[in-house]
Amino acid sequence: MTIRLRAHHLLCVLTYVGRGYTPAFTANYDAIAERLSQGEPITVIDGPDDICRGWIDDPDAHCRLPRLHARDGAAASDLTVLLRRPVQPGLTLVPDASLLSHLRAAFAANEIRLACAQCQWSDLCTNIAEAGYSGVRVAGGRGGSQEGANAPFPPQPPSPISRPQPKESS
Ligand code: SF4
Repeated sequence: MTIRLRAHHLLCVLTYVGRGYTPAFTANYDAIAERLSQGEPITVIDGPDDICRGWIDDPDAHCRLPRLHARDGAAASDLTVLLRRPVQPGLTLVPDASLLSHLRAAFAANEIRLACAQCQWSDLCTNIAEAGYSGVRVAGGRGGSQEGANAPFPPQPPSPISRPQPKESS
């Protein structure tokens, strides 16, 4: 089995602490958080995913709105740079401790938060990251056997070396 996630939910699962839109939404999310914690692989998909399934029939659900697709695009763009591989439908990732740690460090450093602009949960997610992710429900490493299943994340290229400015001629 794999868990189907749209791109911006790769960020949302980092700070999930059991809060959400409705009791049915959080019940479904809790079950997914537990599966992720056990190391069940993620398949990136386009559009409504397994987390949306807990809410998508609600008239207030925003899962199919264009702005949510734009949020996926922003997340995919950030994560493609961070993970140094195309984050697009069909990509499989294993949520082991090293991947979650890598993502959480970048999230806390504000490196992968383009998708969070305009999101109503942004302050909550910022506070959770600043508090060291206390109480989050996706905790990698419980599955054990999946650790290291992702291809290594190549290091970021070094920042450009600043060149000495040419001296002005007198
Ligand atoms: S601010 Fe919104 S989009 Fe960003 S991680 Fe939190 S819930 Fe997800």
